Amino acid sequence: MAFEGLTERLQNAFNGLRKKGKVTESDVRDAMREIRLALLEADVNFDVVKKFVKTVREKAVGSEVLDSLTPAQQIVKIVHDELVNVMGDAAVPLNKSEHIPTIIMMVGLQGAGKTTTAGKLAKRLIQDEKARPLMIAADIYRPAAVDQLVTVGQQVGVPVFEMGTDHDPVDIVRQGLAEAAAKKNDYVIIDTAGRLEIDEQLMQELSNIKELAQPNEILLVVDAMTGQVATQVAEGFNERLDITGVVLTKLDGDTRGGAALSIRSVTGKPIKFVGQGEKLDAIDVFYPDRMADRILGMGDMMTLIEKAQQDYDEKQAEDMARKIKENSFDFNDFVEQMDQIQNMGPIEDIMKMIPGMANNPALKNVKMDPKDIDHIKAIVYSMTPKEREDPDLLNPSRRRRIAAGSGRSVQEVNRMIKQFKQSRDMMNKMSKGNFNGMENMFGS
Ligand code: GDP
Repeated sequence: MAFEGLTERLQNAFNGLRKKGKVTESDVRDAMREIRLALLEADVNFDVVKKFVKTVREKAVGSEVLDSLTPAQQIVKIVHDELVNVMGDAAVPLNKSEHIPTIIMMVGLQGAGKTTTAGKLAKRLIQDEKARPLMIAADIYRPAAVDQLVTVGQQVGVPVFEMGTDHDPVDIVRQGLAEAAAKKNDYVIIDTAGRLEIDEQLMQELSNIKELAQPNEILLVVDAMTGQVATQVAEGFNERLDITGVVLTKLDGDTRGGAALSIRSVTGKPIKFVGQGEKLDAIDVFYPDRMADRILGMGDMMTLIEKAQQDYDEKQAEDMARKIKENSFDFNDFVEQMDQIQNMGPIEDIMKMIPGMANNPALKNVKMDPKDIDHIKAIVYSMTPKEREDPDLLNPSRRRRIAAGSGRSVQEVNRMIKQFKQSRDMMNKMSKGNFNGMENMFGS
């Protein structure tokens, strides 16, 4: 899981502060030392760390934080805000052209995830904007790169313009753009060649393509797992190509966090998207505040909600929100939500996005069995329609009947009903803006 070490160390630093009744300047100094080490260990760029720690220390000592009733919490907030700040404050959307097509050029080292990300982006544009993208295969060096893009194109339903591997990439792009003009595609995504490391020949070729295509967006794809290297690569590409944004891939792996925290400061260019898996829908907009939440172990509730909404039609989502608010959420809705969750991906990944769950030791080695959901469904399906609508009807004799009908034990039925009621109450409270219980993440 990404950021695990960093999250743990930052939390340790905060716990040290929380144990004290009153926090002194020297306590802050100790905590800062911990935070500094945590960041360096996470492979964050040295200059970024230095500036980060300095800012946090000044804010923590300079204001009335130390005299307040909750200094530890306030310091957590200062760290949170500074994490958001180094990652760029707000999400930055894709640059768009005033006339079609908007041209996006993907660049990056070999294996970073360019081709995969091109496909993910195309898929997202279709989903979000009903776009009609065309992808151009301009990587003529890597064996099978053209075929890979064609396959990805087929998977996401996007045409791929290719001329094999015997033509000059600039020529391929020129003809690809002509094709897009003829077909009136609204987006063109150019997949370019990578190398194992930055070399002059590659940079020259990419410059030539840039000059010809005049892209609205040059997205550098970097592998988050490579830490400092990703930051250096970003610096190198930016110097030569003046990139417009970064896609950080493999954030589903156990990256330490360095790239996410350094790239913006070092290059001045925003991270626009993150890749969180090999599947072609595993791409998310990069929100610095949500990433800061995640780094601090506060989960990533918003991304979770967005994921659910993507698979959801809007009306359904509205209905669900209303039901939660009115507390009329019943077992039929519960099963519907289970189906949604099953469609969203591995449950353990989803659980980790819930506030407080990210570093919950109980979840560390959890592998949720999809069978559990099937069991829950079996229990619900053994209820009568009336019982599903009104869980209060479920007296002991009804529960015994349901257990027999679903082939589950009475204890399991009881447990499931209890959990249902608890989550219904929690959702109801949250929908009213009451996040009590969540603040325990910070301790006090
Ligand atoms: P390219 O050489 O830059 O075009 O890289 P590819 O698109 O071929 O990706 C290299 C490998 O990384 C492939 O096995 C991809 O499936 C994998 N990959 C790409 N993005 C992600 C991601 O966000 N998460 C994970 N886990 N794997 C990814």
